[in-house]
Amino acid sequence: MKTIKIPVLITLFVLGLAGCSKSQEAKMSIVKKDMDNKITKTEEEWQKELTDEEYYVLREKGTERAFTGDLWDNKKHGDYYCAACNLKLFSSETKFKSGTGWPSFYEPINSDNVAVLRDMSYGMVREEVVCSRCEGHLGHVFNDGPEPTGLRYCINSVSLDFEESKK
Ligand code: FE
Repeated sequence: MKTIKIPVLITLFVLGLAGCSKSQEAKMSIVKKDMDNKITKTEEEWQKELTDEEYYVLREKGTERAFTGDLWDNKKHGDYYCAACNLKLFSSETKFKSGTGWPSFYEPINSDNVAVLRDMSYGMVREEVVCSRCEGHLGHVFNDGPEPTGLRYCINSVSLDFEESKK
């Protein structure tokens, strides 16, 4: 009897572990479709390439203080790129005044260029916005934005590079 019970217990234990990792995955599931051409670098490589503030926001999911970034009040026409991998993410055409102190957009330039993850940190359920190519943290998306989408992509200035469009 003992020889039968032990393998059964081991099997149940392994299944239990698999169950745990599945629920962890569900917590950070990618809601939107992901891109194929990923950029993956070690944390050491990112640390060398990014400034301390960029590393804190993009790789450690930090948040810059409101009204301190250089793009929250930028009214120039142009495009906003990922500060880590240079993927085009937002256009000034969809930027709006949110009053929050962070650059706010009602939609990304292409829905494939950003991914949305469920963020359960700080006892809140929020939707985290990351760059689809390098998975750099950009900010969060909320449902209180203006028409036509009703969405508010609340993005850190530090996560963005702005390029003014030539007219
Ligand atoms: Fe990126």
